[in-house]
Amino acid sequence: MFADLHLHTHFSDGTYTPEELVAQGQRHGLAVLALTDHDTVEGCAPMTAACKLAGMEFIPGTELTAEEGENELHILGYFLDTENAKLLAEIAKFQAVRQNRIREMVARLNAHQIPLRAEAVFELANCRSPGRPHVARAMVQGGHCATPDEAFQRFLRKDRPAWVPKFKVSAAHAIELIHQAGGVAVMAHPGLNRTDEVIPALAAAGLDGLECFHTKHSTSTTRRYLEVAEQHRLLVTGGSDCHGLSKGKPLIGTIKLPYEYVAKLKARAAEIQSKVGSRKPRGNVPS
Ligand code: AMP
Ligand code: FE
Ligand code: FE
Ligand code: ZN
Repeated sequence: MFADLHLHTHFSDGTYTPEELVAQGQRHGLAVLALTDHDTVEGCAPMTAACKLAGMEFIPGTELTAEEGENELHILGYFLDTENAKLLAEIAKFQAVRQNRIREMVARLNAHQIPLRAEAVFELANCRSPGRPHVARAMVQGGHCATPDEAFQRFLRKDRPAWVPKFKVSAAHAIELIHQAGGVAVMAHPGLNRTDEVIPALAAAGLDGLECFHTKHSTSTTRRYLEVAEQHRLLVTGGSDCHGLSKGKPLIGTIKLPYEYVAKLKARAAEIQSKVGSRKPRGNVPS
């Protein structure tokens, strides 16, 4: 049995619907899927239904945008109570900031003679957690750029004319938010962030795991983080970070995490949930 614990749908910046994602998962012989859309849990309910129909195990999750010093880093949450009031209230703030940021990016594009409307971006995104990839796609749709990549290179990348910084919480706050919702907190793709120096502090702040297996980690990078995980007694996770068709080839199937890692994650979730007194059933396990 294999799992992919890092997946996106159109509820953030991926292109697949939950149903399409599940179909792809089945094609690649995966038995367990976790949904980790950016700063949202909006897709978890439809994913629960789609996985149930397909007889797959589903883990409700999210990928929170956090920062440590100057560096952006992403904290994955697994086995979350997706109806947790505090989690939903915080996520609503993240999303309001994302929506305002879209308006500001569009205003800057307008100042650069790109007559894009914020509503066009929101219509295209059609989710509560819009981001720069949606602005890029709307620019292509409006004929302002040939490709999303061109939109990023000319306008949306850091320090380009339409770039607007994003509000982020501290990593410690993200971990705490996940824990109080009964979830397990994992640092995403450490090999992409290059912020290894923060790992000891995050481990001390309660971080549960490290995403050692990731499509963009080389074999040696994976090996290094497996050592770091062992050193700090962190759980090991892995996922493809598939965004559907939005970043070229769909990545689902590139990481097949053996079930033993999922079992350990699940055991940690049970510990956390008994501590915070939340014993709601999460996701679904096919009988
Ligand atoms: P945001 O959260 O709104 O800042 O957008 C971040 C998303 O934009 C991530 O999913 C990135 O993978 C994507 N992204 C960042 N830079 C580029 C780029 N140069 N081309 C395409 N996508 C990018
Ligand atoms: Fe993304
Ligand atoms: Fe990420
Ligand atoms: Zn991701």
